[in-house]
This record gives sequence, C-alpha cells and structure tokens, in this order.
Amino acid sequence: MRFDSIKTATNRKNKFSAKHQVSFTELYKSNVFDDFAMRDFLSKEAYESVSDSINNGKTINRKMAEHVAAGMKRWALSKGATHYTHWFQPLTGSTAEKHDSFWEPKDGKAVEKFSAGALVQQEPDASSLPNGGLRNTFEARGYTAWDPSSPAFIHENTTGKTLCIPTVFVSYNGEALDYKAPLLKSVNLVNKAATDICKYFLKKVTSCTASLGIEQEYFLVDEAMFNARPDLVMTGRTLLGHAPAKGQQMDDHYFGSIPDRVFNYMYEVEIEAAKLGIPLKTRHNEVAPGQYECAPMFEEVNLAIDHNQLLMDLMDDLAHKHHFRVLFHEKPFAGINGSGKHNNWSLITNTGVNLLSPGNDPNSNLLFLTIFINTIKALHDNADIIRASIASASNDHRLGANEAPPAIISAFIGSKLTEVLNAFLDDETTNDDNDKKSINIDKIPEILRDNTDRNRTSPFAFTGNKFELRAVGSSTNSAQPMTALNTAVANQLILFKTQVDKAVAAGGDQKTVIVSELKKALISAQNILFEGNNYSEEWATEAKKRGLSNIKNTPEALEAYISKQAISTFVNNGIFTKEELHARYEIMLEDYTKKIQIEGRVLGELVYSHILPPAIGYLTTLANNVKSLKDAGLKTGTAQMDLLKSITTHIDAAKQKTDEMVEARKKANSMTSAEKQAISYHYDVKETFDGIRYHVDKLEQIVDDQMWQLPKYRELLFIK
Ligand code: ADP
Ligand code: MG
Repeated sequence: MRFDSIKTATNRKNKFSAKHQVSFTELYKSNVFDDFAMRDFLSKEAYESVSDSINNGKTINRKMAEHVAAGMKRWALSKGATHYTHWFQPLTGSTAEKHDSFWEPKDGKAVEKFSAGALVQQEPDASSLPNGGLRNTFEARGYTAWDPSSPAFIHENTTGKTLCIPTVFVSYNGEALDYKAPLLKSVNLVNKAATDICKYFLKKVTSCTASLGIEQEYFLVDEAMFNARPDLVMTGRTLLGHAPAKGQQMDDHYFGSIPDRVFNYMYEVEIEAAKLGIPLKTRHNEVAPGQYECAPMFEEVNLAIDHNQLLMDLMDDLAHKHHFRVLFHEKPFAGINGSGKHNNWSLITNTGVNLLSPGNDPNSNLLFLTIFINTIKALHDNADIIRASIASASNDHRLGANEAPPAIISAFIGSKLTEVLNAFLDDETTNDDNDKKSINIDKIPEILRDNTDRNRTSPFAFTGNKFELRAVGSSTNSAQPMTALNTAVANQLILFKTQVDKAVAAGGDQKTVIVSELKKALISAQNILFEGNNYSEEWATEAKKRGLSNIKNTPEALEAYISKQAISTFVNNGIFTKEELHARYEIMLEDYTKKIQIEGRVLGELVYSHILPPAIGYLTTLANNVKSLKDAGLKTGTAQMDLLKSITTHIDAAKQKTDEMVEARKKANSMTSAEKQAISYHYDVKETFDGIRYHVDKLEQIVDDQMWQLPKYRELLFIK
C-alpha cells in the first residue's frame, strides 16, 4: 500500500483549473440570505422585525416569523435548494444537520412547504449527541432554535443544495447542549458591560460588539498516503514515524511559493467561502512542510465562529475533491510545528470606535486604558478558566509540550505599552518629549503606531489594536474560548464599574476614581504580564515563583470548569448553570478518555500488525544470510550480526511496551469515575506512547525500506 500510495500521489493530475476568471465581488454572499436578499424577499414589516432582532435582540413574533419563513423559502427555492436543515454545533466539535425536504405530497401532488414552525424551532432526535447527563434518553428531547443574528445560507454539494439555518441546541429544560447558546449569552453580556463603560467617555455609544478574526492553520496530505496510514485515518495524527532528515530547519517553506496543486485547492476553497460570505483575505505557507494558513477579515464574534466552523467543513469537503486530506489536528506530526487557531479579539462600538485602539485625546486614551487594563485583569483572574476552555487531547501536544505557546497563561503587551503602564502607575504625566519615562496618556497612539513588537511565543498577545489568543487549538470550536474570554472581561468590567460608581457616589471625581481603580486593577494583575520567551525553562521557573498555573494536561486543566472561580464568573453572570458546567466537564473528560483510548488501540494494532511483521521479516532475511554464510564455511559479517542484535532489541522492547500499554488501558477502563478514568488515561496510558514510538522509529530507520509498510514522514510531508 505504501508504494502504491507514493505512485498514486506522484501521478496526480490537477482536476480543477484555477485559471478561469472569477469575480469574487459577484460571488460574495451569493449563497447567503443577507440584508440585500432579505430586502428583496421579505415584506417591509418582516424585514424590520428581523433587523430589530439582529440589532437590538428583539424577539420575532409568530406572525412575522411566518412571513420570514415564506420569504426565506422563496429565496432558497430560487437558488435551487430542495431541502432545509437547522445547522448547529453540538459538543462533538463538529457541526450537525438533519435535512428535511421542502416538498411533500398533498392531494396526489407535491407542494413546497416551509412554515414558521420549521424555521423557528425543531426537535431533531439527536439523542446520541453528548449531553453530560442533561438529557435522559427516555425523554430524549433536544431542541434547535433559530439564531437570527447569523444569516441562513445555502450549502452546495455536487448534486444538491440545502438551506441551512444557524440554530442553538438546548435541552427540554433549556440547558445548553451546544457551543452557540452560551456564546450568545456571553456576547450580550460583554456588549452590555462594554457599553456601560463607554458611557463614562463617549455619550453617543448605544451598543458594542466583540469582534473576532480567526487565523486557521492546517496541513494537507495526499489522500492515497493518508489512507495508507491507519493512525491518520483513525486519530488525525501520526502515532509513529521517524523524523525526516529534512524538516523545517531550512525555513524554506514558510511564506514560500504555494505549490500548484495546493493553490488550486485554496482557490476553490476561497470561491466557495466567498459565496457563503466568509471573507477570506490571507493565504500562505506555514512553517512546517505541508502546513498552510488562511485568515478572514474579522467579523462579529458569533458570525466569525459560525464562519470558521463552516470554513472547516468546506475545507474538508473540498480536500476530498482535490484528493487531499486536510488535517486540523493540533499535532499531526512529531518534531515539526503543530497547528493553532489564533483568535484576534477586540471590542468595537456602534459608532465605529475600536476600544482596544487608543484615540487622539486623553479622554479616549483613558477609555482605551480602561478596556486594556481590565482585559489584563480579567485574564489574570480567569487564567485557569481560559486554559480549560482550550484544553483537549490534541491541544495538549502544543500546550503541554515544548511547543507554541506553553500551558502557562500570560499576556504580552510590548515594551512601549509596558512603559506606558509603568508611567501610568508612577503618575508621571509630564509632556516632555525627551524623557522616555514620562509618557502622557495622550501620546499612546503615536507610541503604538511605531510599536513593531511581536512576540510569537505568547499565548495572549496585544497586537496594536486587538488581543490575540494564540493558544487555541486548530481543531477547536472557538466558541468555547471566546465564551470564556467574553465572560471574563464582562465580569471584570462590571466589577470595575461597580467600584467606580460607588466611589463617585461617595463624592469622588469620576476621572480620578477611574484612574485610581485602574491602578489597583493593574497592580493586582501585573504578574500575568510577560515579555520574554515563553518557551524557555526560565519562564517556567519564573512563572512558578509568580504563582501562575502551568497545567500541562487536559483532565487537570478541566477542573477549572467546576472551580469556585467558574461559579463566580460563569454562573453568577448567567452564562452557565452549575449543572451545565458539570455536564460540560464530564463531556470533555469523556472526550479526552475516548480519544486516548482510540489512540492506544490504533497504536497497539499498528505495532502488532504493521511494524513487527516487516521487522521480523527483515530479521529472518538477516538470520538466513548469516546461516548460509556459515553453511558455506564463510565468516559471518559483523554488520549482519550488529543489525540482528539491534533489531531484536527494538522488536522485543516495542512488543513488551505495547503489551504494557494494553494492560494499562485495561486498568484505566476499570476506573469508576470519568475524572479518574481520564487521569489514568493520561498518566498510565498516554505516557507510554513515546516509549513505544522510540523503538518503532528506530526500527523504521534500519529495517529494509522495501519491506516497510507505512508511508514515511518524508513521503507524507514532501510528495505533492
Ligand atoms: P498576523 O497576526 O498574522 O499579523 P493579521 O494582522 O493579518 O495577522 O490579522 C490577523 C487577524 O486579525 C485577521 O483576521 C484580522 O481581520 C484580525 N483583526 C484585525 N483587527 C481586528 C480587530 N479589531 N478585532 C478583531 N480582529 C481583528
Ligand atoms: Mg496573528
């Protein structure tokens, strides 16, 4: 299979020609029921009702929903859609849909129907999706409910089109069973909290939105070679494989010219994304061979996340068409970079002011500092929650290992802003240009404009007018970390405002009070700021001294979801109930256990049935050679004897360690609670993988290449 796959991959012909002219401006949103389509297909009343719901969160009444459904149906049919579905994001990490046809038989004929009921709420029999005990199967009811703030769109397959309606997914009792429901709550919370703060400074602001731009990293592997690697097929990553002689050390892939076949793939993804209104803007080669990145223009956070989920679906579909497989796993290959999903986050007012971008006068700069410092304070107080929100078996390979960024949550703000904050604390507010230390806050914009600081190792970096959460895994649904970040910041802004209002009510001057409250917040949060190399040993030591957490594995990181801090951040702000938090905790623990369990099974099977047979085969060849030399009365070569010994050692060790891993799995399986099981899978099972791999990878290097069955790293990464 290995040699067949190399041949197939080598002989691929480009099926798709990117040569033809495409007008992206014409394609943009052509498959989206957007504002323009709504104006065309809805009555004025219905249109206004939806707009009011999108802009002001007003509920759409039944009668209006009936009109909207009728208009949406006409639009979808005009686009050639035959079916519709509620489109939602259950806690599996992927998107879910269940299609119904528009048409149904009536009086011997077929008629097309789509009612308000079908638009607004459905009850898919989705009892097999994870619910963490929130749903008992005997009352297996889960409801999907329309989210008007994310527009309906048409999903095109090769042979058919489906109207997709973004929805939340909740239980009969209203408990969230998905990522979107809590996200929407956190969006409202942070928007309101930021608006309330704005009122101190900008009277005209009536609302704010959290904005998000998601950079998505991924690998592409040829389909034939992917299929010849059971570990990639079953787990999304290679469990074995010796590092190739050439990896990423030459830095020749990063920003290099994009290979033709890959370019064609990207181009088609961009075309389909444009139709869905996903504003893809950037594409380039990433650091590791076979690794790439794309990024859209930022959008409102809920829409940005829907678009990212949709984009991943699209990329997966189109990869098949181009005979690739796209890998979103955080660490598909050992020894070269893994993939992340940088979440660029900011808050923007309805008047167009980016609250993380300093303005032109002291007033707007104090507003900037208020949002900036409170965000840092929010990160400080909720570091463990943020860490938990990005925890997964696959992201552990980045956060827990020597890989970007580490598990220690800290913020990077750059040397200039560090100076600004120090001066702010020192109360130095002179205007002297020559004295670097004395920075008046009205000079922040100039300072930032030439602030070219970049720190690629920080998990949470300020990059001029936004914070970039870089620790999110490439396969993660960003809703989870963004729910945590929105809520943490909102919670902090609310606390801050309470303090300020109290002091003002007691007779304090508002501006003076804000400054002194900011100083307090900054002082208490300062130890989360770190400007150095986050990968260094020194930082781990220093962070420990500072009392910052460094939680390297998912089961332990997840505990933050049921901590006191989670209650005060999430529960007290109405984002999750205690029960919902516990359910999520259980679901994520189980997810972790299952993933490691599957990896363990695949690894065991690979060693026994793919690695040992060729190794033993080669051993036999060597032994026969030695025997025939002896029989012929010739001297046996020391090379053969050395190889015989070495191969025997590695075969024995690989076999023995695999046997031990199988036993460890049995022990882990016998654990009685989800917690204990996940911990045991981490410490007893997963920790054995590297030892097994060591011996297998040694064998890969010495066993006859012609006998080796699994495509090697050099083939997976470099043949395209
Ligand atoms: P890099 O971090 O690699 O330099 P870019 O500067 O291209 O990347 O920006 C990365 C992402 O940040 C893009 O998706 C961009 O739209 C987004 N972005 C820019 N400004 C904001 C903002 N104010 N809020 C949220 N995202 C933003
Ligand atoms: Mg970036």
